[in-house]
Amino acid sequence: MSLKVNCPRCKKELIWENSKFRPFCSDRCRLQDLGSWFMEEHLISDEENTSLEALEQLQNDPQKVN
Ligand SMILES: [Zn+2]
Repeated sequence: MSLKVNCPRCKKELIWENSKFRPFCSDRCRLQDLGSWFMEEHLISDEENTSLEALEQLQNDPQKVN
């Protein structure tokens, strides 16, 4: 009796016991999924960078204060 699962990346059916890259069907799918996680974190950090624009505006503001 073997457990069949679907690769989270490409939805291909694979035998759980036979896959050394589980839950993915292949090393390629595993790396692609890791890559998408990395990209998401990268996008989140980019959003945090928008606060830099706010800092630049604050740096321009002292002229108005003076
Ligand atoms: Zn796959």
